[in-house]
Amino acid sequence: MDNIAYDRPASFDEALRLGARPGAAYIGGGTNLLDLMKGGVARPSLLVDVSRLPADGVSTLPDGGLRIGAGARNSAVANHPLVRERHPLLSRALLAGASPQLRNMATVGGNLMQRTRCPYFYDTGSGACNKRQPGSGCAALQGDNRGHAILGASSACIATNPSDMSVALAALRATVQVRGPRGERAIALADFHRLPGEQPERDTVLEPGELIVSVDLPPLGFARRCHYLKVRDRASFAFALVSVAAAIELRDGVVADAALALGGVAHKPWRLREAEQALIGRAPSDEAAGEAARRLLAGARGQGHNDFKIELARRAVVRALSLAATGSPSHPA
Ligand code: SF4
Repeated sequence: MDNIAYDRPASFDEALRLGARPGAAYIGGGTNLLDLMKGGVARPSLLVDVSRLPADGVSTLPDGGLRIGAGARNSAVANHPLVRERHPLLSRALLAGASPQLRNMATVGGNLMQRTRCPYFYDTGSGACNKRQPGSGCAALQGDNRGHAILGASSACIATNPSDMSVALAALRATVQVRGPRGERAIALADFHRLPGEQPERDTVLEPGELIVSVDLPPLGFARRCHYLKVRDRASFAFALVSVAAAIELRDGVVADAALALGGVAHKPWRLREAEQALIGRAPSDEAAGEAARRLLAGARGQGHNDFKIELARRAVVRALSLAATGSPSHPA
């Protein structure tokens, strides 16, 4: 059994000092990291518990946007009046994920950092997994790849990002605020997660020791017409085969702005501005939605077992945009 040190700093400065130590890992709700540790996939020598840092609230920004603390629990964010009123798409995505018990523990920062659910990644007895053990190969390429990527994959890894929340945040043009040994920086959510390339062991662009402080959402006009569609094998407590975060802003019957992102299809939430632009300046229609889907899925390629996800994603985009256009209630169910 490994010896693991534990500390619970009360300030960001102290957390960053501890997080810079070799073998340190930040922990919030622990809903993913503890599973990884129990399975021997993650083996930190120091856990830096960031759950007591002053970063668990939701507040307004001077430009009318929202700032969500990295330590805010998923359930608290989903049910926060400001989030429900201004970004029901985010509420819906959060409520589509995990179970109530897990949402009560999981934090926004932890949700952004959760790792793929590729079964070979968690099975230390299965051998090849470049994400778990760089250079060992990828068992999913020849194995069961039903849930794997159809976009942005590499010959080193075809895993998908499992987060529902991140799909909505990508569509809503969120920015991740981080602090690290070299100071503060802001990262567009769309650039926060990486494609696997030759380094699938790196899920995000975070540098060692960097800590997520908050997620900022700009003021947008999507509250009235949005929909989060999640297609999965079970009705609850299952990861997405395909998910769609869709929202439009209508003016005089014409789409003035659009937000569209796919989940369950790539190593990161999949958003392309040119797909959203296919909707702008036109009345909502299945034809326009189909064109947006075509652009979003350009270059999609199945791995064998998951070939069906290409057509599933196309239909899900059209369906989600159609439901968004009808006007969603302000509050998620
Ligand atoms: Fe590992 Fe990625 Fe291959 Fe899964 S898809 S086995 S995570 S390298």
